[in-house]
Amino acid sequence: MIILVINAGSSSVKFTLFDMSDNKKVLANGLIERIGLEGTSVKYSNHKDYKYQDKVPVKNPQDAVKLVAKFLVGEESGVLKKLEEIDAIGHRVVHGMEKIQKPERITEQVKEAIKECFSVSPLHNPHNLAGVEACEAVLPGVPNVGVFDTAFHSTMPPRAYLYGLPYNLYAEDRIRRYGFHGTSHAYVSRAAAAFDGRPPQNLRIITCHLGNGASMAAVKGGICQDTSMGLTPLEGLLMGTRSGDLDPAILLHLMKLKNLSVQDVDNLLNKQSGVLGLAGVGSSDLRDIEEAADKGDKKCAMALEAYAYRVRKYIGSYIAALGGLDILVFTAGAGENSVTLRAAVLADLEEVGFKLDPARNAVRSPEIRVISADDSRYKVLVVPTNEELAIAEFTQEVLAS
Ligand code: ADP
Repeated sequence: MIILVINAGSSSVKFTLFDMSDNKKVLANGLIERIGLEGTSVKYSNHKDYKYQDKVPVKNPQDAVKLVAKFLVGEESGVLKKLEEIDAIGHRVVHGMEKIQKPERITEQVKEAIKECFSVSPLHNPHNLAGVEACEAVLPGVPNVGVFDTAFHSTMPPRAYLYGLPYNLYAEDRIRRYGFHGTSHAYVSRAAAAFDGRPPQNLRIITCHLGNGASMAAVKGGICQDTSMGLTPLEGLLMGTRSGDLDPAILLHLMKLKNLSVQDVDNLLNKQSGVLGLAGVGSSDLRDIEEAADKGDKKCAMALEAYAYRVRKYIGSYIAALGGLDILVFTAGAGENSVTLRAAVLADLEEVGFKLDPARNAVRSPEIRVISADDSRYKVLVVPTNEELAIAEFTQEVLAS
């Protein structure tokens, strides 16, 4: 079964073509950036070592999908004889609110639901829908499946998703915790359970997705019980450029004190805060912050400490939420690669039940691996995430059902 995975953003289309029948092999992938802007950049490569990179004008998502199709069947670049070989297209869709609770075949009704979520996801859902419509136009007859970031978290109980606000705001306006990165949390928690081998229905797992955006989830028997992001991806951990949790009254105070507009506050909390704002060296990339801290920059060291401390606090609260723990998982850019960050998160927690093995923690590998010591009460794993593959797997499951 051949599955094309599309992740359509505000000015980019990322794509991967999988042959699910051939050991989930990646046949081709690529990225088109700056769509509709000056200097659109196009990157494409296939499993036969063909590589393309150039600036090509691409006006809109439909032209982007046309270009993808051209590559996939091109004389030199191609991996398919004809486009009809594509069995399905899996799309990343960010928000499904309560309307979409699992990966779904995209129908007119599902498209309507994606639109109804525009107000809570104005930066993502409109572009995700544009990607779906572009595929419908360019590859007619191929089934489209939506894989929603929020879906995995839809199993949270009300005690976890309700905010302490007047109930009407939930009942009428659906203001609640939804959570994001669900495809990644689902993928790594499943992979961790399969790797561990104990019966998955009893396993309690905490997943830490620490990338540019960062979130955690508490998972029991494969079912999400709580997660750190909320109505939007701003809540929870301290991130690259987002503040994460803060006293909501700070917003009101700042709006009055500095005469800030709604847009100013949005920018401040989403784009200028987190590690970028705390460290103050013009980068939100933890690699840069770690390097500066190593050279003695005190603010960078403090930003890293604050980042790790927030993860640690959530681990504590999720152990309580799950009534115990079996496996802690680190994933995504920083979670998979930063030896220092993982060590900082779990430093001096032996009495609580975490004992890292420093040599195992220092291993760099693209494989799933144990980094806790054999006598650690809780097992700690690094599980490389693969959201594209997860979308392809969910798409295959939807088609099979
Ligand atoms: P995104 O959230 O954009 O999908 P990723 O999951 O790829 O991002 O994570 C990217 C982030 O991971 C980078 O901004 C950086 O902060 C962090 N990162 C990647 N590699 C390392 C590393 N070796 N050490 C520390 N941080 C890293």
